[in-house]
Amino acid sequence: MTIAVVYSDGIREYDFGPGHPFRGDRYATFIRLLHERLTDDDFELVEPRYANDDELLLVHDQLYIDFLEGASKGVWLPSYRFLSPDTPLQPGIARAARLIAGTSLTATEIVWEGKFSRAVSVGGGMHHARKRFGAGFCIYNDVAISVRNLIEKYNLERVLILDTDAHAGDGTCELFYQDPRVLFIDLHQDPRTLYPGTGFAHDIGAGEGKGFTVNVPLPPGASDAAYEYVMDQIFQPLAEEFQPQMIIRNGGSDPHFADELTNLGLTLEGFRMLGAKVAQVADELCQGRAVDLVGSGYNQRVLPYGWLALMSGLAGLDIELREPFLFSLKKDYQLDETKRVVEQVRQNLKDYWRCFR
Ligand SMILES: [Zn+2]
Repeated sequence: MTIAVVYSDGIREYDFGPGHPFRGDRYATFIRLLHERLTDDDFELVEPRYANDDELLLVHDQLYIDFLEGASKGVWLPSYRFLSPDTPLQPGIARAARLIAGTSLTATEIVWEGKFSRAVSVGGGMHHARKRFGAGFCIYNDVAISVRNLIEKYNLERVLILDTDAHAGDGTCELFYQDPRVLFIDLHQDPRTLYPGTGFAHDIGAGEGKGFTVNVPLPPGASDAAYEYVMDQIFQPLAEEFQPQMIIRNGGSDPHFADELTNLGLTLEGFRMLGAKVAQVADELCQGRAVDLVGSGYNQRVLPYGWLALMSGLAGLDIELREPFLFSLKKDYQLDETKRVVEQVRQNLKDYWRCFR
């Protein structure tokens, strides 16, 4: 099976400048690694389009778009109203953010339309962006934009978002908090120990959407075995009961044990396991339709390998994964603590899901 890799060189402008942990050279290093390690039969590069205003407005508002694009043309508005200090506006970055949104739109559309059963959006996963506020290196929330687009343009009724980024997806969570059409399952490092400090197990959605937000706060150091337990005890049974029409997984390499901004414990094999579980459940429930949005990662040496490991699991690519760092890790580190968290999550949600009773 050929997986689509949706990518344009234009996103190298998504760059917060020297000294910032998020630079624009990350994307090209991944594409170079794909060409080194894979054959033309394994993947197909697909050129994305830019998101238009109507698509951005599915999630954001006009004032926010005008600020981002007006400011790049020299019109002054106070930036603290729209962006957190960790997400400074740079020349060209609003245009690149629009391209990232278009990349995820393209990836989800080609899969829904049946041109590919799997796709990777290179640069996607900007899950901290809110309706009128950019933060955590995220400007336009491409995850939410592409899901809303599937709902509005293609009339999907059930979309599953699996957020495996190390940080809680606070923007995505807020945007779908009351929406039962979107099951949002978020695995992240315990919010008491990491930005953005949200995503507790008792946050389960509100109104019509109560029960459709599933936060799994993982203890620092959570190993491959801990993640696998969560995938088997939370992701798979919930997906089977929800019956999604498509699965969208977002998150890059930042849960890796050597990441420089986080404290989780995944290895490359753990990333591959996540991709493979998504693929297996998508095959079982929704004709294989699954899309990966990959953008994060704060260890430059790990980043392209982490993304490749996720993709190799999703696409079933039989390639050797070699850790760029040698480190002795306890294979089931934090499994017991993770079991306690999972039990709590299941208890909190048992009124909404038969599989947790
Ligand atoms: Zn992250």
